[in-house]
Amino acid sequence: MRVAIKKMILIILMVLAITLSVYLSMSLFNRTTPVPMPHNPLYLDKNLSAEDRINNLLSYMTLEEKVGQMALVEKNSIGDERDVARYGLGGLLSGAGAKPEVNTADGWKEMTARFQAAAKGSRLGIPLLYGSDAIHGHGHVPGATVFPHAIALGAAGDAALVEKVAQATAEEVSATGVNWNYAPNLDLPTDIRWGRVYEAFSNDPALTASLGAAYVRGSQNSQNSMVLTTPKHFVGLGSMGWGTSKNKNFHIDQGVTPVNEMLLKDVYLPPFKASIDAGALSIMVGLNTWGEKDTLITSHYLLTDVLKSQLGFKGFLVSDWYGVYERQGINFFAMTKAINAGTDMVMLPFDYKMFTRDMVWANRLGFVSTERIDDAVRRILRAKFALGLFDGPKAEQSLSVIGSTEHRALAREAVGRSLVLLKNNESVLPIKSSTKTLYVAGSAADNMGRQAGAWTVEWQGVDGYPLLGGTSILTGIKEQASPETKIAYSLTADFKSTIKADIGIAVVGEAPYAEGWGDREYPIIDPVDLETIKRLQKVANKVVVVIVSGRPLLVNKEIDSWDGVVAAWLPGSEGAGVADGLFGKRSFSGKLPLPWPRTSEQLPITTAGVTADGTEVLFPRSFGLLK
Ligand code: BGC
Repeated sequence: MRVAIKKMILIILMVLAITLSVYLSMSLFNRTTPVPMPHNPLYLDKNLSAEDRINNLLSYMTLEEKVGQMALVEKNSIGDERDVARYGLGGLLSGAGAKPEVNTADGWKEMTARFQAAAKGSRLGIPLLYGSDAIHGHGHVPGATVFPHAIALGAAGDAALVEKVAQATAEEVSATGVNWNYAPNLDLPTDIRWGRVYEAFSNDPALTASLGAAYVRGSQNSQNSMVLTTPKHFVGLGSMGWGTSKNKNFHIDQGVTPVNEMLLKDVYLPPFKASIDAGALSIMVGLNTWGEKDTLITSHYLLTDVLKSQLGFKGFLVSDWYGVYERQGINFFAMTKAINAGTDMVMLPFDYKMFTRDMVWANRLGFVSTERIDDAVRRILRAKFALGLFDGPKAEQSLSVIGSTEHRALAREAVGRSLVLLKNNESVLPIKSSTKTLYVAGSAADNMGRQAGAWTVEWQGVDGYPLLGGTSILTGIKEQASPETKIAYSLTADFKSTIKADIGIAVVGEAPYAEGWGDREYPIIDPVDLETIKRLQKVANKVVVVIVSGRPLLVNKEIDSWDGVVAAWLPGSEGAGVADGLFGKRSFSGKLPLPWPRTSEQLPITTAGVTADGTEVLFPRSFGLLK
């Protein structure tokens, strides 16, 4: 009897063990069985609401198909293009200058079409988001219109102008099949030592809110060329402290933003709120740390409680480059922490095989709930439906919009309106048509790469690069000057003539840089240029200095001896716009979008204009002489 009972127990235990292992192998190791789909699923029906279409599509998706949508991969990391469908990837990007093999507009179009076709070949045929940093026009494509960087648009301070620039950019971007732009930048720079000042419009929250919202509208308002925007970087990236960078190569970028609940509400959130109200459907989370404890990407409070719940953001949150894994310890837990905090799409940017495998395990083992995954996928699909990606090809945008005459004219107008006249002794500007001799010098006078700045062709820009189309500032000067004026040019002002020029124009500034590679303890004019200005002063009766830079530079020691000073920012491909201002074809109307400090001891300067040492800046925000 006892033996029989023992046997029974043993059999029951064995059956239980077998059942458990069958269950485990089915649930942990197998791919989920796909829900069969009808021939014409409802999510393809344009007449249904986006939310109904999303629900229908979600009901067919396996766990693997869902986590694939959460992956954003750098295009050079795709070894086998069939992986796009195999892993059901949600997005690809051309970051840090990742270009097609042939870097032309055609090359871009062919590349994005190939990836898009690969995605559509998957079981559910979900189209890809294809992203790029077209932050001042589609700058990575040679021949595109390169608009002035955002700081210049901040100086022009006109939302209608920004809306037009964003729309023109979207037309050029979408002609190449890119449907996602990592702009506008809503950072509020409080320290000119940071290498990303020029990517932001201003450090005035109200101006940034209005220009950011205008950018979102401009990029997303035309169905045929609609390009998804990504306000960034949530939140406070512009106000990190010097010396706080967690990246050993940088000083300030990827650093710590001082925490203060009141500042968060009054200063940093309003620009994001305005962009959300304008229709932003994706937002990028910064690589900074807010206060001492939380990197942004792991902050449930900031991402979910504040951004999604309080501000009502219905779109998706994308992490910045490797941001989920950077400095977070074990990859698996770094990922679960970021997803649970509220990150919806992960800019990996490399290892999608690891990510998709980890996400499946994270769900099966209970680290990330199915509700969280469904919420993330729902948000990503919402953007894809809004872009009309499921609804067949749009009226094709011709490649002829790239660098078109209209877009270049708009860029030139933007440059002219962004010039800030800082000094104008004895009305040296605008230059009179009676001027007999004009000497032009300086590193940025005949250097398209310098005037365009970074995020042009290459991530770090290319010093000296002759952009296709557009004009250098020197060419603009030659075109605009009166036929009576003799013009001579020398890069370093080595003018041999014994005749003194009436006016010397020194076009000087900084070589291109991007991100933390542009962090500088003392942001000054290139020392070679400072020597050039001195030489020019010896051979010209009056000297006008045109500063081509991504930020205000420390010129306190030199400025008194200059007759005229113009801040021209990073004007892009249309250098003629600078000449328009110099010769009075367009009057000076730009205003400083952030204060111009006198010394480095004044840094940082709060968004309210208070310097670190309590002294007066050289020029306050909104300063600009009208002429
Ligand atoms: C930058 C982002 C950019 C991303 C993709 C990152 O390094 O911080 O602003 O959008 O790269 O290129």
